[in-house]
Amino acid sequence: MGKSKDLALEIEEQEYNPDTEPRREYYPSDIRCPNCFKPTLVQDSAVDHYCTSCGQEFIQVGSALRFK
Ligand SMILES: [Zn+2]
Repeated sequence: MGKSKDLALEIEEQEYNPDTEPRREYYPSDIRCPNCFKPTLVQDSAVDHYCTSCGQEFIQVGSALRFK
């Protein structure tokens, strides 16, 4: 009994995946991606950046971007 309950919880957790269901709004960044050097960065906050070309996420520290 305990085993099937654990399994149900596990499935629930897998269904909730924030990576495949983005609820954040992105807007274009004027910074080039430090990873692939393409102007395809978007940002969803003042410091959170995401590259739509290579998929890398960055956090802005001062005037520099750091790999997440
Ligand atoms: Zn990139």
